[in-house]
Amino acid sequence: MFHAKSAHFFLHNSICDDSMEYRKMGNTGLRLSVLSYGSWVTFSKQVDDSASDRIMGLAYDNGINFFDNAEAYEGGRSEEMMGRVLKNKDWDRTSFCISSKAFFGLYGKNNKPTQHGLSRKHLTEACNAALRRMQTDYLDLFYCHRPDPETPMEEVVWTMNVLLQQGKILYWGTSEWSGAEIAAAHEVAKQLSLIGPAVEQPQYNLFERHKMEVDYLPVFSKYGMGTTIWSPLASGLLSGKYKNGVPDGSRLALENYAWLKDRTLEDDKVARVNSLEKIALQLNTSLATLSIAWCIHNPHVTTAILGATKESQLTENLRALDVYQQLTPDIMAEIDTIMGSKP
Ligand code: NDP
Repeated sequence: MFHAKSAHFFLHNSICDDSMEYRKMGNTGLRLSVLSYGSWVTFSKQVDDSASDRIMGLAYDNGINFFDNAEAYEGGRSEEMMGRVLKNKDWDRTSFCISSKAFFGLYGKNNKPTQHGLSRKHLTEACNAALRRMQTDYLDLFYCHRPDPETPMEEVVWTMNVLLQQGKILYWGTSEWSGAEIAAAHEVAKQLSLIGPAVEQPQYNLFERHKMEVDYLPVFSKYGMGTTIWSPLASGLLSGKYKNGVPDGSRLALENYAWLKDRTLEDDKVARVNSLEKIALQLNTSLATLSIAWCIHNPHVTTAILGATKESQLTENLRALDVYQQLTPDIMAEIDTIMGSKP
């Protein structure tokens, strides 16, 4: 764990206490823990109420103050599970943030035309439904889960601003939008004297770097966007667990996720992860810890959303707080050479 000399101190744009670092989410006043926790695939699929309660408890006790979710995760059941955990925990609602995202709808291929996308109707209904499932009065963050070229940008920006005005959401954001789409949302917001997106949620890990390191640079400097990055371990691949095949019970062994296995488990990627192991050994840490540390080394990352099916995984991943401080320019360059993914 990262140990500060005093209880609270400032580091660049961050506040650290003795177990966690908190970064400002872009230009907003909100401080998120640099490591957070999300429930995609896991809640209501791989873990039951008792395990989700223990994992979220461990996260909160270690200073994690952001829990990520979406309407599409297990057709809303992931949000229901998180809602039950939060109700049971009875933590002070002012001490943590929760999110939802809308776009994909609840029913996949069976969505009716009004049940997905970013129309005013779907965004509003998805927000209200997420509030009910999570048993909360407001979402701290609410994302457009993907861009929707079918809906005018004015409609999206207005709808998010109405939800803000109603107090149902506190910040709105985008996920996997291009830099140009994010800029367009900001320009529309400016023209209408409304509030633009404060945060983007992109994939960012040692394989996927282009958006964070190239495409978004103009929106970081011009609009001060924060980022809550997803799949820091590329669904577990960067932990090294797939080097000898697919272990039973792991994400890529799940029946309905063959599409994810095909996309993730490429021989060349596995070989690169194997080569990275020597850096982890050099730093006396694990591949998972090193890979997450590499993500939060980037100051444009507000928070890396961790996934974990076990408390032991979360404990291991939280060590990234110590390790990222040890990533010197030489080590970062060596990692670039091994991974070959620097844009
Ligand atoms: P990761 O890439 O970190 O993958 C997490 C999975 O890897 C775990 O569930 C576990 O799976 C395995 N794992 C984690 N730690 C270890 C470890 N130390 N050793 C071995 N295996 C480990 O993150 P996610 O893909 O889960 O993404 C994180 C969050 O980001 C999601 O929960 C969600 O909230 C968000 N997200 C957002 C998206 C978007 O479009 N906006 C898309 C995807 C995710 P297992 O034990 O089953 O093998």
